Amino acid sequence: MKAPLIAISRHRIATDGVGVTTLVAFHGCPLACKYCLNPQCKRADGLWKRMSPKELLAEVSLDDIYFQATNGGICFGGGEPLLYSDFILQFAEIMPSEWNITVETSLNVPLEQLKTIEKAVSKYVIDIKDMDSDIYKRYTGKGNQQVIDNLKYLISKGIGSKACIRLPLIPNFNAEENRTKSEEQLREMGFDDFDKFKYFVKEG
Ligand code: SF4
Repeated sequence: MKAPLIAISRHRIATDGVGVTTLVAFHGCPLACKYCLNPQCKRADGLWKRMSPKELLAEVSLDDIYFQATNGGICFGGGEPLLYSDFILQFAEIMPSEWNITVETSLNVPLEQLKTIEKAVSKYVIDIKDMDSDIYKRYTGKGNQQVIDNLKYLISKGIGSKACIRLPLIPNFNAEENRTKSEEQLREMGFDDFDKFKYFVKEG
């Protein structure tokens, strides 16, 4: 199995997971966010290379000593990494057991894809955009019922504490009061780790 990648970025410190991490970014995403942070993941010419789990392991292993010394490992992002759950699972099965896997995901994927990687993942960084379904749909072009179902699944399995939920302020799409509502809803569900920030958008 080979998965399409847009980039590998080494030596990231405390940006996406504990310790030193290498970001592995996949090509492809089911959403169409108006201010996409990585537009190359959706363009045909954004594809960098295809790799098998074994080839990826050979590529990222040169930082093994950093991962082991800092409890770091691999952060899978994109694009949407959960489109490639089977690949991530296969990679997890052959990587050193001391490495940790983080996924940066929208969670807008079928539940089966979340279940596939459940045992392999140490941390989920989840960009929920906004919990309001109308705002979400206007911003991403897709509904958020799947996201909500998957969030409930994480809580039901007792792994909500592995999640850091990103709550962005999205110019022209939501406001502080919407974000507060999203946070309240998520706290009621059982989440308690949030990363609040604002998308910077060039006007004009
Ligand atoms: S989820 Fe991320 S990669 Fe996908 S369209 Fe939105 S910003 Fe772009």
